[in-house]
Formats: sequence, C-alpha cells, structure tokens
Amino acid sequence: MGATSVRRQAITAVQAHQPPATSFAAAEAPGEVFGQNVFTKTVMQKRLPRAVYKSVLATIEQSKPLDPAVADVVASAMKDWAMEMGATHYAHVFYPLTGFTAEKHDSFLEPGGDGASIAEFAGKTLVQGEPDASSFPNGGLRSTFEARGYTGWDVTSPAYVLENPHGNTLCIPTVFVSMTGDALDHKTPLLRSQQAMAVQAERVLRLFGHERPGAVVSFAGPEQEYFLIDRHFFLARPDLLNSGRTLFGSKPPKGQEFDDHYFGAIPERVLAFMLDTERELFKLGIPAKTRHNEVAPGQFEIAPMFERANIAADHQQLLMVTFKRMARKHGMECLFHEKPFEGINGSGKHVNFSLGNATEGNLLLPGDNPHDNAQFLVFCAAVIRSVHKYSGLLRASVASSTNDHRLGANEAPPAIISIFLGDQLTDVFDQIAKGGATTSKDKGTLMVGVDTMPVLPTDPGDRNRTSPFAFTGNRFEFRAPGSGQSIAGPVVTINTIMAEALDHIATQLETLMADGIEFNVAVQKVLEDIITIHGSVVFNGDGYSEDWQIEAAARGLPNLRTALDALPELVSESALDLFGRYGVFSDREMHSRYEIALEQYALSVSVEARLTLELGSTVVLPAAMRYQTELATNVAALKAVGVEADTAMLTNVSDHLAALTTGLATLRSALAHNDVSTTLGEAEHARDMLPMMSSVRAAADALEDLVADDLWPLPTYQEMLFIR
Ligand code: ADP
Ligand code: MG
Repeated sequence: MGATSVRRQAITAVQAHQPPATSFAAAEAPGEVFGQNVFTKTVMQKRLPRAVYKSVLATIEQSKPLDPAVADVVASAMKDWAMEMGATHYAHVFYPLTGFTAEKHDSFLEPGGDGASIAEFAGKTLVQGEPDASSFPNGGLRSTFEARGYTGWDVTSPAYVLENPHGNTLCIPTVFVSMTGDALDHKTPLLRSQQAMAVQAERVLRLFGHERPGAVVSFAGPEQEYFLIDRHFFLARPDLLNSGRTLFGSKPPKGQEFDDHYFGAIPERVLAFMLDTERELFKLGIPAKTRHNEVAPGQFEIAPMFERANIAADHQQLLMVTFKRMARKHGMECLFHEKPFEGINGSGKHVNFSLGNATEGNLLLPGDNPHDNAQFLVFCAAVIRSVHKYSGLLRASVASSTNDHRLGANEAPPAIISIFLGDQLTDVFDQIAKGGATTSKDKGTLMVGVDTMPVLPTDPGDRNRTSPFAFTGNRFEFRAPGSGQSIAGPVVTINTIMAEALDHIATQLETLMADGIEFNVAVQKVLEDIITIHGSVVFNGDGYSEDWQIEAAARGLPNLRTALDALPELVSESALDLFGRYGVFSDREMHSRYEIALEQYALSVSVEARLTLELGSTVVLPAAMRYQTELATNVAALKAVGVEADTAMLTNVSDHLAALTTGLATLRSALAHNDVSTTLGEAEHARDMLPMMSSVRAAADALEDLVADDLWPLPTYQEMLFIR
C-alpha cells in the first residue's frame, strides 16, 4: 500500500469515529467528585492525630519549617488512605528540566518468602527518594558516576491518587536535587523564590503597620491554549508525531480569517472530551473553570481557577498529562506545541500572577480609589520596577525554539517586555510622578441600552491583548509563556524580581524614615522615584504595531527577538547577582540551566531538521515526482496524437521540484557537519538550519497546491483542522 493510502485510511477512520462511552452519569454534580483522589486537609484532619495535623497545617498555611517527627505518622496515614483508594504503588513525582513530569514508582507490596506482604512506607520513604538521575538533563552539575538524584517531599503540594485501569498509584509531589543539593528541577527554585518574595513582602507590610502579617504567597492562574486533532491524522503526520509541529503544509483555503471559531459553539465531540477531562481534573483537585474555543480552528483554551503558585504549577503539569491521556481516549491528540500549524495562531499559556496573604488578601487589589491606596501602589510599583529592570530575564524565562515561532508574530505579545497599566492606574502614576496623586479616574460603566439589563462596570484594567505583561484589575497577566512550557520558570522569575523590588522599597522607606521623614511622604518619594526611573516600561498602546518597535528602542527597552538572543540573560552578571542574593539559584545552577536550555534548543531544532530532510526526501519528493511523470506522460501522449500540449504545469511542477531538491541537499550537508564543540555552537548551528528548513518547506508547500490530490501523501491542514 502506498503512502497515499495512509492519508486516505486516516480520513475514512475519522469519518467512522464513534465516541467512547461516557464514564460518568450526566446528572453527577461536579462538587461530588472534586478532590476525591486528593489527600486533602480534610482527609488529613480526619486521619491524623490533632497535634500532627496542626503541625502539618502550620507548614502548609504559614510556611513554618516541617517538623521531621511528623513524617512517620503522615506516611502511615497516607499509605492507609491510598490503599483504601486502590493504590498498589506509590511514586515520587518531580519536574525535571525537560519540562515533562517524571515519576519513580515503587510497590507497596513486597514479595516475601511465603507470599507478598505490605511493605513499609515509613516517614523516610515519604520524605526522600533516590531516582537514578542520569537520564535527566543536569547541565554539567553531576558527572555520570554520581548519577544519583534525590527527591524530597513537598508537603505544601497535596499528594493524590492517579487512577489507571491496571492499578492506582499514590503520587507524592517532590523536589529533585543532586547529591550536592543543586536544583535539577522546576519546583526547588519555585519554592525558594516564593520564600524570598515572602520575606520582602512581609517586610513591606510591617512598614505599613501590620505587626504580624500572615505568610505572603504568590498565586498563579494559568490559561492554557491547545489544539485538538483527530488521532488518525496525527499518526499519519510523522512531523507532528516526532516534533509536535507540522514541518510541511500549505495554508487551507479557509484559514482563521472568518473569526468564526472564537467563542463559537464548541463541537460536540470536543465538548464530550472537555466534560470527561474536567471530571478527571476535578477528581485530582484541579479547579478547571473556563473553557472556550480559541482564535484558530481546532484550538481551545482551559483556565483553571488560580491557586498558590506552587500548587498551580504542579496542577498545570498534571493537567497537561491528563489532557493528553483523555484526548487519546476520545480518539484525538492534544497538541501543546506553541506553533503546530504555520499561518495559524499558535498557543500560549498566560500566567495570571498576584500575591497576598490571609490577613491582607490580594495585595494587587486597587480598590475604588487606587490613588489613596498606598499599599497597593507600592506593590504595583514593585511590579513596574522589577519588570523594567529585569525585562531581559523575563524574556529569557519563556525562551525556547518552539516559542520563537509565536512571540512577536502578531498573534502573541512581542519579544519586547512592557507593562499595560490601563488608563486609571497610568493616570495615578502620572500624578505621582508630578508630586502626588489626589484623584482616581472613574472606572466607568457600560450602558447596554436595554432597560432590563444591569449596568455593567467596565474593567479599569481593560483588555489589551497585545501587551506581554498586563494589569487586569487585580493581577498581572504574563502573556509570553508558551503553551508547552511549565509555568514554574516564569513564576520563579516574577517571584525573585519582586523580592528584589520589595527589598529595595523596604530599604528606601526605612532609610527615609530613619532620617525623620514621615511615612506617607516617604512612600510618595519612593513611588515617585520608581515611576520616574522605570515608567518607560509602561505602554498602553498596540504592542503589535511597527511604531512600538521603534518607540521601544528609543525608550531603551530590549527587544530580544529569539531564544538565542534571550538565553544569555540567564547568566548575565545582574541575573547571577539577583538569584544569588535571594538564594534562588547559585551561579552553578544558573550556568547549568543556561546550558540545558541551549541543549534543548539544539536538540529540538535538529530533530525538526532531520524530519524535514526525511519527509522531504521520502514522502514529498516521490509524490511530486509521480505527478511530474504523470504530467510528462500526458504531454507526450498529446504530442504523439498531434494535439498541442500546454507544458506550463509541467514546467511549474518541475521548477518547484528543482527547488525542493536543492533545498534538501543544502539541509543534508548542514546536518552532516559536526565541527562544533560547544553547546552554544550546537544551538547556533541549529538556528542556522531554520531558514534552510523554510526553503524546503516553501517548495514542498507550493507542490502541495499543484500535485493531484490522490497522490498527496500527508493529511492536509484542511483535513486536520476542519474535519470533526
Ligand atoms: P481572560 O479574560 O484573560 O481570558 P480567564 O477568565 O480566561 O481570563 O482567566 C483568568 C485567569 O486568571 C484564571 O485562571 C483566574 O483564576 C486567574 N485569576 C483571577 N484572579 C486572580 C488573581 N488574583 N491572581 C492570580 N490569578 C487570578
Ligand atoms: Mg488571559
């Protein structure tokens, strides 16, 4: 059977799709299952002795150090609970720098002399694990002969039971570090940065007269965009299968120009998937909330309710795994790649960020009169200072080869990091810059013009979709993270730069007050300084416009267009100083992360380059040549009977075939070359292959538009995006 029939078979199979039987009663209330598989505080309260429960709670809620004495008791209660839930195994779950989730499974059962017995699950087993770490990236932190890594229980992120038809597993969220305590994962720095930010935020709060402020934590609400395509098509596209994106594919006649997908009715098949998946998320305690279609055909979004950033990050990883699994159950593949389809919007993961505590609530809540809310203004100013001062680092925190296809491409914020404040706050800060704020502009209301409609308040933090870092009423939304990324990296960066800004503010206030300056005057002075020095990062206009590129340059804002432009920021002197000062990363750790990011860049682009070469040579080229032969035969046959033959088509196809052949040859020789010895060299070499891949693609896509449909081997964009 030829390659063509793989595509035909896929189409037939898609048309014959039967939805899976629903696994739950439609009448079931979501509340009934929420957190059902989670070792929640309520479960702990029931199962733990009172003193132990209080001690664990103090660690979770008030960031108190974990009392090692409680581990045995918690472990035993956790094991009993998990086994009652049908768990046969337990796993330390960790988040290595591949961006994926890793698990090391062990059995609760221990095969003994006369049958299996229930194994020990002591405190030390809960607290620490020793996965073989040699297969995870470490950026030179560990030599292979000491390939041991350690996982350590994160008591602040709840354990849960993951179901599988073949047996359930108790999953324990953990950090992952080397023998020397160097972070090999995303969670360790997140917890460190959270702690650093809290220290400084609480210091500022004390200056505002809160003698014993509750532990400050950061909150994150990630909005996840993704594509769904039928799995038959996915399997018939080796490029999607192996690199997550299509390396070939001509734009369909109907793209997203009609704008009819966004907020349109969700296709029934997708809705069934969403309902089923949300129920799974609920069981795992993930508060899935909003769902809708996205801009591109086949693209959707899910936004769970915001949670503590550490838990939100773990949940986000679990959400991605769950989506992948459930999509397969529904005969689809879920694509988290930032740009699976050229010419169609890519997918991002907006990270909504705020900070707060039990006593003060959300510290980014402006209230009705922000000009009068000095505490809010101070925290808001901290964001302005930190984003301006460390915009390069923020850009680096979202840098990857895959996100490069999206950032700055008129569908996602530009690579220039600026802040959208909205009219009201911009005006307040303008007043501050001129000596003091005395008024707040009206929030405004929206008149619908129908008497029975309520008056709708307009959001003062309006919606500027083009801003990478936008104030949206009670939080900032960082829109540059890629859809496939862990949110931990961006959150670590935001926490740490906020720690620095809050530290700066607290120190300034303390100094001014020591000089006898009254508190309110000192606050005005500090705010005035910040907005004067860092106000140039505030931009409320259209971030997609050409003018902004020019203006941003005039303002001195960096424009780090690509990942390789941005990544060196990770090891800049200012970054090393920042992360070192707040105990988030040592220099060694930063260098290792930089190294890993380059490795991953080189690896993913090289895989794409090899796939381009392979598919181009073995799938596209033969199909086009067959068609060329058909055309040539036709011309010859017509000539033989004396009919004048039009050779334009043959010439056209032959020209593109020649371009394809040349393009493939160039790429082949680039791939063969191996004279680079540094990781940076590898990454740069990979980057230089991108235009070669584009040339191959341009020729192949032109051929796709010409070659007879029955000869074309790969499922087309039209088919993947529009057949449901
Ligand atoms: P959008 O209009 O940006 O698409 P959504 O409602 O889809 O908004 O998503 C908003 C996200 O922001 C949700 O995850 C929501 O829980 C989160 N969010 C709301 N308030 C806060 C907050 N104070 N801190 C952090 N995240 C928040
Ligand atoms: Mg959003």
